[in-house]
Amino acid sequence: MKKRKFLIDLNFITVFLIIIIIISTAIIAIVGYNLNKTIAVTSSNIASINEIEDKSTGRVEGNIEENTQNTFSQSQRINSTNNVNIPSQNQQENAGNISNQTQQENAGNISNQTQQGNIKNENQIVQNTGNTDQTNNNKNKQNNPNSQNGVIYLTFDDGPSANITPKILDILKENNIKASFFLVNYSDSNEKLVQREVNEGHTVGIHGYSHEYSKIYRSKDSYLKNIYTLQEKIKKSTGITTMYTRFPGGSSNTISRRYHKGIMTDLTKELLNRGFKYYDWNICAEDAGSAKNANDVYNYVVKYLSKKHGNMVLMHDFASNKKGLEALPKIIKYAKQNGYTFEAINDDTPMFAQHVNN
Ligand SMILES: [Zn+2]
Repeated sequence: MKKRKFLIDLNFITVFLIIIIIISTAIIAIVGYNLNKTIAVTSSNIASINEIEDKSTGRVEGNIEENTQNTFSQSQRINSTNNVNIPSQNQQENAGNISNQTQQENAGNISNQTQQGNIKNENQIVQNTGNTDQTNNNKNKQNNPNSQNGVIYLTFDDGPSANITPKILDILKENNIKASFFLVNYSDSNEKLVQREVNEGHTVGIHGYSHEYSKIYRSKDSYLKNIYTLQEKIKKSTGITTMYTRFPGGSSNTISRRYHKGIMTDLTKELLNRGFKYYDWNICAEDAGSAKNANDVYNYVVKYLSKKHGNMVLMHDFASNKKGLEALPKIIKYAKQNGYTFEAINDDTPMFAQHVNN
């Protein structure tokens, strides 16, 4: 009996323990499940938060990008153009090979700024022509912000030369067109060509007494001396004190780095402070560059002519440049047939300034 009671007690304890184990397991299982569930939910929440942040960041960046594109589309276009087209150093040094499109865009942006910044300088500029009609025209143009649209400024650098310059002057005369000449030092025998340029209503400007980069870009003083010397000479030849200049190689040239780092940054400011203006170009005829013949020169010019802004066309009248001379009548014919007008650079011509790269 005693043994039986013991067995009953043992059974009871076993059953009790089993029940406890079952209940414990159940509790552990339930708690564990809930814990896992909580962790899972938390993870899921973290994932969601990340997702939201990602989406948010993405959206914001997207917006920024969109806004940037809208706001700075022009800059971006210029930058992207620059990336593709900005001239390697060699091209820039060649001064003629810089992408026309890049120059057009750059010139548009910079010239406006420069123009605004230098209005006070305009009064200091010695009039190149005292013609009353022209002065009236200029006043009208000042009132018309689109006055440069479709205007072509033909410019001839590195002259005068005895064999090319007179023929260019003849062509301009036949077509009743005024143009601009950026001169280098000339011999006594060519002085009459400079006088003829002025007499026939063209603008004479200063390219430089010397065109030799290593000399003129050696220092600020050597550059200034180089333009004042020629300015004085032109005054003796023609009676005109010209304040129009063009940097050899353009203001964006990088060749000057070889001789004086930062000199173009200094010079571009210095010239304006002294009342000079400088004119780069937004169309390069490549007549001193990659054009193989007159047809190439013609194509380089007409391809980039635009009625949406002024067209500053870089050509040359140095002695060996027959390509430019031969192309000129065709360029003029095309321009006239397509409604362009021609002007010589005058006090109301906005500066065409490229990016300074040194
Ligand atoms: Zn030149």
